[in-house]
Amino acid sequence: MWVICSDLEGVFVPEVWINVAKKTGIDALKLTTRDIQNYDELMQYRLKILDEHSLKIQDIQSVIETISPLEGALEFTQWLREISRLVIVSDTFVEFAQPLMKQLQHPFLLCHSLEIDTSGRITNYTIRQTDPKRKTVEAFQSLQYKVLAFGDSYNDISMLKSAEVGILYCPPENVIHDYPEFPVARNYTELRALIEQHIYS
Ligand SMILES: [Mg+2]
Repeated sequence: MWVICSDLEGVFVPEVWINVAKKTGIDALKLTTRDIQNYDELMQYRLKILDEHSLKIQDIQSVIETISPLEGALEFTQWLREISRLVIVSDTFVEFAQPLMKQLQHPFLLCHSLEIDTSGRITNYTIRQTDPKRKTVEAFQSLQYKVLAFGDSYNDISMLKSAEVGILYCPPENVIHDYPEFPVARNYTELRALIEQHIYS
């Protein structure tokens, strides 16, 4: 029996922070885990920038409400939920994800949460657990599932490595260069073929 563990941003939805950067015109918010591999370093940097521009959770949520899932994402998640069990393991936050999850018809999501004061200022964030992507895979393996995992970036690598099957989905060239051991899918058709190859073999 298989469980499919998937990343969210860059796989089913666009990068939330990049969209916030575009909408607000703050270029400094365009950096992602593709640019800064240390997630805590990246998040503390983002919170500092939000403070400098007095951006509150309401401002960010209003941007997220304008984002749609990537083309074909809903249909692809529906297919995954038909053939297996889909778990989306993301470094996003509950407070950000809800409008996107609604559009994807509420798949099972594991992610982090934000600390927000009464004015709406994001004061900090709470990581659900350390190295959550790897630990999610190991948790399902402890339940006697085999795990097929896919994601697009550095923060997915521990998940891909611990899974029985790891696949890079639409990764940037530097990720492919650093981790040549993983097969690469560049669209949902290619990803589906790779998944079928492993799950039905
Ligand atoms: Mg991603």
